[in-house]
Amino acid sequence: MAKGYNVLFVTSEVLPYSKTGGLADVSNSLPQALNSLSNEVRIITPKYGQLDERRLQIHEIKRLKDINLEMAGKKYKYSIKSSFIHGKNTKAQIYLLENQDFFKNKGIYQNIKTKKDFPNNDERYMFFCKAVLEVLEILQWKPDIIHCNDWQTGLIPFFIKTMYKNNPHISDIKTVFTIHNLAYQGNFPKTTFKKTELPDELFNDNTVKFHDKFSFLKAGIKFADKVTTVSQKYAEEIRTNKEYSCGMEDVLNDRRKDLVGILNGIDNTVWNPSFDKVIDYRYTYQEIPLKYENKRELLEKHKLVYNENIPLIGIISRLVDQKGFDLILDAFDDIMKEKLQMIILGTGDEKYQKFLMKMKKKYNDKLIIHLGFDEDLAHKIEAGSDMYLMPSKFEPCGLNQMYSLKYGTVPIVRNTGGLSDTVTNYKDPKKGNGFLFDKYDSKEMVKTIRTALEVYQDKKTWYNIMKNGMALDFSWNISAKKYMELFKQICNKK
Ligand code: ADP
Repeated sequence: MAKGYNVLFVTSEVLPYSKTGGLADVSNSLPQALNSLSNEVRIITPKYGQLDERRLQIHEIKRLKDINLEMAGKKYKYSIKSSFIHGKNTKAQIYLLENQDFFKNKGIYQNIKTKKDFPNNDERYMFFCKAVLEVLEILQWKPDIIHCNDWQTGLIPFFIKTMYKNNPHISDIKTVFTIHNLAYQGNFPKTTFKKTELPDELFNDNTVKFHDKFSFLKAGIKFADKVTTVSQKYAEEIRTNKEYSCGMEDVLNDRRKDLVGILNGIDNTVWNPSFDKVIDYRYTYQEIPLKYENKRELLEKHKLVYNENIPLIGIISRLVDQKGFDLILDAFDDIMKEKLQMIILGTGDEKYQKFLMKMKKKYNDKLIIHLGFDEDLAHKIEAGSDMYLMPSKFEPCGLNQMYSLKYGTVPIVRNTGGLSDTVTNYKDPKKGNGFLFDKYDSKEMVKTIRTALEVYQDKKTWYNIMKNGMALDFSWNISAKKYMELFKQICNKK
């Protein structure tokens, strides 16, 4: 096998240390997949206040303790601690950056107590980016590539090419910047730019200025050697369609040559009905009756009646507009008129939480609502549901439709982004694995749900749809190789 690369994977969330969404899953499994291709990938992430050092086996590194860092004329100290992520046959070293000024409180982007974004998120992640670069000199390990993820890490490519351009430890390191969601941009007032202490001339439309704001996301897109996003369809949508580009179409078109869509994989050892440690009955396609036992457990635990002929629709999601909750809200009564049961696990916008609690009372004989973040319940819903509803307005990749396909839980999705790249219309007997609708419209969604309910009653067709989904390979093997290819391209480029 070809010699691999040293890669520092920089991320603001990673399982099992922190998670708000799919980035945490990817940050856990992609580095391990790359390591099994003979790379050495190490991860670095903030050590947020809620992390339990003992439970997560986080250890001190003596020589990386109390490192000085100056930012915006103030002196700070940070330490790097160490831990390991383990897969079945793989692992990855993870560094956790500890600092009392920015990462002491509990919460990732929002303070757990106030449920509001930290007011100093600009400084928190500027500090993180600077510290990541400065620690390299004392780490005694040099990455060929820094793989940055989302706006929280966008300043790294920018700083390498400006602040550290004359630093021999840093200036020749290549960068990949992956956009997991273009809608989150980390746009801050111009006063934030002052805190970088870079010359004012560097704040312009060709660099990091975006509608008079300092955009951390734009910094990543403009200055990284390669820009990736997490599905091919989304890579195309964000460049060509104003509905998806969140104002960044020109910025992205400028990087067109270097913009690549690489579909996320899933961790087959964690999200796999035949190994899943959480579910009550493990199963393969040959053992679908066991899937129904999971359904029975799930329903009975929540005091609903099990009936093989009544399909259960599952949703596990952040409760935000992006995920199509305005459609769900609009069509809720129509959906509930149908012969079905539904289970929704989610947390997010207050308006959706309130609405769902109201619906729970109204339809308590067929609806389960669980507000909160619950990894175990997420597995049980994937295993126990017959269908999975994901009517996203936009979807960079989406993991839950892939988990659903693996669990024989047939997805009903909007035809967009990563959902388009993974779900195939049920009518195709060889590949059909789900139900898609095009227009972002609640009536279209309900129509498609009705079609799925009808097809569900035809067991032979339904089993075939499940089979086609369960047979797909969403492991990281293919995608990790594509990242390798990218690393090769940038490292050979002078
Ligand atoms: P996004 O990153 O946009 O939220 P993805 O589909 O890429 O969407 O990933 C979402 C991940 O977060 C999945 O692993 C999903 O199971 C998980 N998830 C979302 N909400 C919850 C929740 N309330 N409880 C448990 N897991 C959740």
